[in-house]
Amino acid sequence: MDKEQIWQAVLGEVEIGLSRVNFITWFKDTFISVFENDKIVIGVPSEFVKKWLENKFYKIIKSSLEKITGQKINEIFYQVEFRKPEIVKASISSNDEENKTNKEIKKDDVIRTSEPSNINRFGLNSKYLFENFIVGKANELAHAACRAVINNPGKVYNPLFIYGGVGLGKTHLLQAIGNELSNHTNKILYTTSENFTNNYVQSIKTGRGKDFKSVYRNVDLLLIDDVQFMGGKDGTQEEFFHTFNELHQSNKQIVMTSDRPPKSIPAIENRLISRFESGMVVDVGKPDIETKMAILEKKAVERGYSFDREVLVYVANNIQNNIRELEGALNKIVAYHEFNNAAPSVKSVKEILSDLTIESRSKSISPKDIIEIVAKFYNISSKEITSNSRRQELVVPRQIAVYLIREELNTSYPTIGNELGGRDHTTAMHAYNKISEQKEKNERLNQEINSIKQLFYSSIY
Ligand code: ADP
Ligand code: MG
Repeated sequence: MDKEQIWQAVLGEVEIGLSRVNFITWFKDTFISVFENDKIVIGVPSEFVKKWLENKFYKIIKSSLEKITGQKINEIFYQVEFRKPEIVKASISSNDEENKTNKEIKKDDVIRTSEPSNINRFGLNSKYLFENFIVGKANELAHAACRAVINNPGKVYNPLFIYGGVGLGKTHLLQAIGNELSNHTNKILYTTSENFTNNYVQSIKTGRGKDFKSVYRNVDLLLIDDVQFMGGKDGTQEEFFHTFNELHQSNKQIVMTSDRPPKSIPAIENRLISRFESGMVVDVGKPDIETKMAILEKKAVERGYSFDREVLVYVANNIQNNIRELEGALNKIVAYHEFNNAAPSVKSVKEILSDLTIESRSKSISPKDIIEIVAKFYNISSKEITSNSRRQELVVPRQIAVYLIREELNTSYPTIGNELGGRDHTTAMHAYNKISEQKEKNERLNQEINSIKQLFYSSIY
């Protein structure tokens, strides 16, 4: 058995004891990176997953590994690592042999429970196209800027910087540019800033800094997703600064996305901010009702459904946050009606979405749930969070719990105080303000909070 097969077998064991959502949350994009004698390194996609695998799944992973390999495993290490090989591939290897191996890896990369992948050789998802992007008020400027870039790459808006909240179509636009321009050049590189960072760090470690440079600096089109994650990473910023300059000087197009405008990215160098702002900065906002209806309608038709207007209105009104959620709602509706062989009505849709819509969503999570999830995340107990102890490792999670209860459930401060072991309402208020403030400045905290949120939304969906 090779590493891949061993890991697949381990996943098979682990999956039995977990809900599907949990399984995907913790094990998607994991793999065995190194397997030597009794030492194993498991590659994971984020610090967050690493923490959980180390703490919560240690035993089951170890015993499955031992069972499957028939040998004693002494040490298991977890390391944040990305396996997507496209990054280094795009411009160096038109070499068929290499592409073939990469494709093979890619295939196994995806755990069988996840969606089939449409990733092409540039690392772009071929379903992200302009023709299936619905334009509305909130994204028309961003859309127009992207079109302009396609018509005149490297000339009009360089760089193009697109920002906005999650699930609003940034990656879709970014990749649509890549897909469109792939008809003109094959020197296209799509990557996330996390991947860029990882590749950079890895290249330094292995003494291959030169290769790294030549890959990133020899493209016609560089697409960097989620640049906000470069905040605080000085070496990476330095490298990116030079990459940027070199490409820019030779009129190579750069497009970036971020969850916030350049100036608001914490811990990012001023010289990068000024580079990011030097071309065109556009935002994508939350879609209005009409746009949401249009998106739903189009996606429904693509799947062979046509919804009544009232159904469209109901869904569009009740799914508030973003387009990704809208797609999630549609998936549920389609699955339900296919299974029951019935036409969607407002009544049935209401029922199906009852755990997804805004009011019910906050109804279904209680302050206790939030406390529990925060506790789990920080590997402490709910009791400790609500206790009187002022230990630093408890204080911050406690404040985060207050923050999230307020933010997500809009619970009153006296009630929050009560939930947290009978504390005063001013204490709760203070905690809320403190986290709101620090969240803006501290990217790590911000990311932790987002991960926790994801956790409780993934647990109720
Ligand atoms: P972001 O990168 O901003 O978090 P994505 O680009 O991943 O968001 O979009 C989330 C999902 O919503 C994707 O499946 C994308 O195809 C879809 N989507 C976003 N905006 C639109 C749009 N205007 N028209 C059609 N689909 C969209
Ligand atoms: Mg994105």
